[in-house]
Amino acid sequence: MRTLDDLDVDGRRVLVRVDFNVPLEDGRIGDDTRIRAALPTLRELRERGARLLLAAHLGRPKERDPALSLAPVAARLGELLDVEVVLAPDLHHVPDGDVVMLENVRYEPGETKNDPDLARRYAALADAYVNDAFGAAHRAHASTEGVAHLLPSAAGRLLEREVSTLTAILREPEHPLVAIVGGAKVTDKIGVLAAFVERADAVLIGGAMCFPFLAAQGHEIGSSLCEAEGVAPAQRILDAGGDRLRLPVDLVLGRDFAADTQRRELDGVDVPDGWMGLDVGARTAAAYAREIEGAGTVFWNGPMGAFELEPFAAGTRTVAQAVADCAGTTVVGGGDSAAALAAFGLADRVTHLSTGGGASLELIEGKTLPGVEALT
Ligand code: ADP
Ligand code: MG
Repeated sequence: MRTLDDLDVDGRRVLVRVDFNVPLEDGRIGDDTRIRAALPTLRELRERGARLLLAAHLGRPKERDPALSLAPVAARLGELLDVEVVLAPDLHHVPDGDVVMLENVRYEPGETKNDPDLARRYAALADAYVNDAFGAAHRAHASTEGVAHLLPSAAGRLLEREVSTLTAILREPEHPLVAIVGGAKVTDKIGVLAAFVERADAVLIGGAMCFPFLAAQGHEIGSSLCEAEGVAPAQRILDAGGDRLRLPVDLVLGRDFAADTQRRELDGVDVPDGWMGLDVGARTAAAYAREIEGAGTVFWNGPMGAFELEPFAAGTRTVAQAVADCAGTTVVGGGDSAAALAAFGLADRVTHLSTGGGASLELIEGKTLPGVEALT
């Protein structure tokens, strides 16, 4: 993969694809982590004499939805870089300037179709292309893939670090390699589990992820969140790597997904009717913490329970603390896992906090990302 070290940018206008898909609350930015994550690349390019033309998407607008304008993002970036960031309303009106931002690329109908004409229009606006949008690198869109073939192009520092850190976990991990997989999107994460049961020394399962496995083993799951189409793949993973898989031995149950629901602890994993498993139990969390603390490499994706609800946060907190205390390389991917770490004040205690949920999972699965492939 070509990096900024391979690109001549002095005096050039560089189109930089960034991942500024930040959460908005009433038109204001809820969390600017993604904007901050691009600053090293943007600062380096400016120090090396480049003018910046930024491209980013925000949400999934069907048409030119003003609620998804990048105006608040341009303003926030201006504060962080201490320069004026000019927002170009559309591709016909792109002013010259040191730092210019294109409007939401998803306003362009051809963007997600990777329309070659749109890619050519982007390319006509710049002399070189840098992709720093790791969170969008698993999509072949005009601003993430098409345009990369039309200009001298390279990865930005964030994309470079994400790819090198995550591929190192697959290729040359310090053992023991411990994978922790939880959360709710079971069918999205089956591929990652399949990759880890082959490579990891232990795979710790938590969150709603455990119920297809427990169901496959014949346990009662009550009204726990469990995708029916997850059970057969879970069975295959049990068959392939059963000795390395760790499943909960106790659970915390609630009547429904709410902080004020009736709560009880269950010593075992057969969930009675009318109850749902909302967290791993204390014995499970302690056993997982012991495996994590002795690991050479940890990859964590997905909370151990409904951590947003305080009565069901303990399992995720114990695991997060163990990841923070682990002396090995620790990598965390996934939006909710990152949010959990931040909520516990542990975000700066891990080696690498990935900015890309889906992209980090696809990379770990061993898939090639189109946005990365276009830069090789
Ligand atoms: P990430 O964003 O880290 O990849 P996911 O999006 O897959 O994680 O899952 C996070 C969500 O999973 C959280 O909203 C959490 O409440 C939910 N969750 C975790 N465990 C359970 C459970 N046992 N039952 C219901 N929801 C759960
Ligand atoms: Mg999530």
